[in-house]
Amino acid sequence: MTAIDFSKSVKTALAHRAGYVCANPDCRCLTLNLVGDDASKVHYRGRAVAICGPEGGPRHDAGMNGNQRKAIDNAIFLCVKCADTTSRNKGVHYPAELLRGWKEQHKRWVRANLNLRQEEPVQLRLVRAAALHIDNAATASVSVRQRGR
Ligand SMILES: [Zn+2]
Repeated sequence: MTAIDFSKSVKTALAHRAGYVCANPDCRCLTLNLVGDDASKVHYRGRAVAICGPEGGPRHDAGMNGNQRKAIDNAIFLCVKCADTTSRNKGVHYPAELLRGWKEQHKRWVRANLNLRQEEPVQLRLVRAAALHIDNAATASVSVRQRGR
């Protein structure tokens, strides 16, 4: 059994859609942290986790082909801690239906909480600033470490 390797574009789009916030409703931690006092350096601690896992695992769906397994619809954005927890024992304690529910719930949460025009909490301003830096990584002097797969 090998982990599903999502493309960089899938990982990036997934993180954007999740607002860089872990999709586990009991966690919802921000996956970006400033490094020290340097506002241009950001630690990135998010991962794209397969909802339906690879062959041989408890979350495997034989009805899915390889392209479907690597698609964004089969990925959920989680922090490193939740990614590790949900992948323990090949993910047997976190079935695909549960992760799909988290993803759907998170989508609604993002819509309801991250597009507010009113005064924003500091964390949300950080998400917006970091997302902009990551999008412009080629031209901006930003150091982003990706620890994900
Ligand atoms: Zn988490």
